[in-house]
Amino acid sequence: MAPPSAGPTIFPLARLPEEWATEVVRLGGRAFHGKQVFKWIHARGVADASKMTDLPAGLRDTLSAEGLEGVLGIVTERRAADQTRKLLVGMKDGANVETVLIPRVSGGRRGELPSPLEEDADVAAAVDDEDAPPEDEGAVVPVTQCISTQVGCAMGCVFCASGVAGLKRHMRADEIVAQVLVGRTRLDAGEQIRNVVFMGMGEPLHNYDATVRALRLLTHPEGIGLSTRKVTVSTSGLVPEIARLGADFNGQIGLAISLHAADDETRSRLMPINKKYPLPVLMDALRAYPLPRRRRITIEYTLVAGKNDGPGEAKKLAKLLRGLSVKVNLIPMNPIEASTLGPPDLGGVLAFQKILVDAGYSCFIRRRRGDDVSAACGQLALLGAKPKVRVDRS
Ligand code: SAH
Ligand code: SF4
Repeated sequence: MAPPSAGPTIFPLARLPEEWATEVVRLGGRAFHGKQVFKWIHARGVADASKMTDLPAGLRDTLSAEGLEGVLGIVTERRAADQTRKLLVGMKDGANVETVLIPRVSGGRRGELPSPLEEDADVAAAVDDEDAPPEDEGAVVPVTQCISTQVGCAMGCVFCASGVAGLKRHMRADEIVAQVLVGRTRLDAGEQIRNVVFMGMGEPLHNYDATVRALRLLTHPEGIGLSTRKVTVSTSGLVPEIARLGADFNGQIGLAISLHAADDETRSRLMPINKKYPLPVLMDALRAYPLPRRRRITIEYTLVAGKNDGPGEAKKLAKLLRGLSVKVNLIPMNPIEASTLGPPDLGGVLAFQKILVDAGYSCFIRRRRGDDVSAACGQLALLGAKPKVRVDRS
């Protein structure tokens, strides 16, 4: 007789407190120990069961034997002059992805553009105006972490290193969340991860179940405890999953849409997914997203010289977005090795922005962060960088 199906395996770091309760009971502990284990791992960052001092010794030993650690190791870490840290992290099967820690830069140290024309890189997507830090925050430096959800990506956007590489595999929920657990160990004194953006390698909504579980883990109050509104999922526009995400979290998760064009012909050329979910369908999905009051959807628009960056396109974009609660982030394309495409010059970027601002939109130019440690999201893992530091993957 076939064994009963146990359902999909939930790896230890992906278990929610109630699942830990079931697990520790199975291992001979009491249900309430489950929440303690979850807290140790996610709130305190301790995955070594022998250090979980409020558990009975027997349970500590059994959990140690299960092996909770070692989902991710840091392969390389590069720190830019602006303190952005790019971590190349390796999973047990040898696959690498990148995650980036981006500390908020205080007033005086902004880049080449006058404020408020530019915003922190991915911070811009996650932090809305009303999220200004409270006065009494003292020395806390809020950090935004950008995380990956797949090794490579199946969507094939022509300007994107992950897209050119193709999909190697989905990441599991425990691997996705482990990026934040590892990221937290790389913070400087006074820094705190306040925002997480799903803008690294991969298309989060193509890996829907793992992404949703990762969202539940990251926002669980007994764990890392991020507020849902401080977590942003960026998508190339998978329409059914946008609706699912809206329903599953009642619109509380921040949504960023990679638009990159305001007409179907241009968008399909840049992003093949547009042939499956063309703009009218995508715009309907955005209108249907149960966005809380005063929140906005982030529209990402990568400017590619000669492809989508003309004044006519800016006007089309302004018209397309009419009536939606949005903010627009312009991202001058970061050149990638596999393509001759590149960004427009600064004049072109500013002209594009001006048309949107004049049409009444909040429109920011995403500041490049961490340039001197090479590449934007999605590019580090694909440089074929030789591991400089090998860390324990056991
Ligand atoms: N797959 C998701 C999230 C990861 S990509 C998505 O596409 O939304 C995060 C953002 O970086 C997207 O807006 C993507 O279009 C943009 N991007 C990818 N490659 C880029 C490049 N070379 N230059 C500028 N932006 C890029
Ligand atoms: Fe995938 Fe996003 Fe890159 Fe497109 S831009 S290939 S969806 S990671």
